[in-house]
Amino acid sequence: MRSPSRPLSAAFVALTATFLATACAPDTEAGATPQASAAPGPEFGIVIHGGAGTITRESMTDELEASYHAALDSALAVGHGILEQGGTALDAVVAAVRILEDEPLFNAGRGAVFTSDGTNELDAAIMDGATLNAGAVAGVKSVKNPITLARLVMEESPHVFMVGEGAETFGAQHGVETVDASWFHTEQRWEALQRARESEGTDVSWHLEENRMIGTVGAVARDRNGDLAAATSTGGMTNKRFGRVGDVPVIGAGTYASNASCAVSATGHGEYFIRTVVAREICARMEYLGESLQAASEAVINDRLGVLGGTGGVVAIDRDGHPALYMNTPGMYRGHWMAGGRPFTAIYGDEGDGR
Ligand code: ASP
Repeated sequence: MRSPSRPLSAAFVALTATFLATACAPDTEAGATPQASAAPGPEFGIVIHGGAGTITRESMTDELEASYHAALDSALAVGHGILEQGGTALDAVVAAVRILEDEPLFNAGRGAVFTSDGTNELDAAIMDGATLNAGAVAGVKSVKNPITLARLVMEESPHVFMVGEGAETFGAQHGVETVDASWFHTEQRWEALQRARESEGTDVSWHLEENRMIGTVGAVARDRNGDLAAATSTGGMTNKRFGRVGDVPVIGAGTYASNASCAVSATGHGEYFIRTVVAREICARMEYLGESLQAASEAVINDRLGVLGGTGGVVAIDRDGHPALYMNTPGMYRGHWMAGGRPFTAIYGDEGDGR
């Protein structure tokens, strides 16, 4: 026989209410927008990429593979070192991106791809998750490290976005390092331009072929203070013309950071990333839907970018320190180094994300 029902004790009601609130509610402060990721992640960490695309083992030599891992390792070591010593996320992402810009393997800074005119036009952006300040430059031709110029735009001007000669004049006024055009001349990128020119008009998939060469670089970080930052730098796409600018310097598309949710740096076919506002969309899903960073990244890459035919990937870190690295391409040069952990780098899609 069932025992007659008894009134619930006040203590039991309180305990149950506490349990339900903990187990069922999203991680939310009183009155705040629901947030995902209740469990704290590493206290600090940096996540980087060196571009996504058709990167396969067949298209790689052991030597080249080792060079990519070594370059990613160097960027992680510098970024992680800054964070470990209590430096800011902003300093960490700039330092990491500068290393990748100076490495000819990547399509940013020194290894930038060529435009249809045989020149190099570089784009970069940075965002500070603590203040929502941002800086971006596009179409600069003589700045050695465009990410440093983007940071100057953010910190030393009342503006967010500067292009071409104006951006370079501003940079000169602030002592930014410039180089001769020959600094950006690498044989690999020059040959890629010749192939693109030859196949243009006859082979509509030339840009997909060149996808193999894509190597935009980016970094996101969380520092000990809990502040987030994102930075991205690129030469854009081989054979680009008419002043084409991709997603990288478009705040919210290729680069975004907010302490309320996450920091994101993207890489891939920029036109699609602009149209689907990838970086901000991931953060917005966390803020408004309470999704985890991983779920939000997958939803945006698969259900927004992917359905339009866009290809690429993102690296991201959330406000609790969880990293995410996600792409819909066969490979993405990527890595992370989280507090208390070891550096992780990967190239191919089947290597997981190291977590
Ligand atoms: N997103 C860059 C652009 O479209 C290219 C890349 O990521 O490799 O300019």
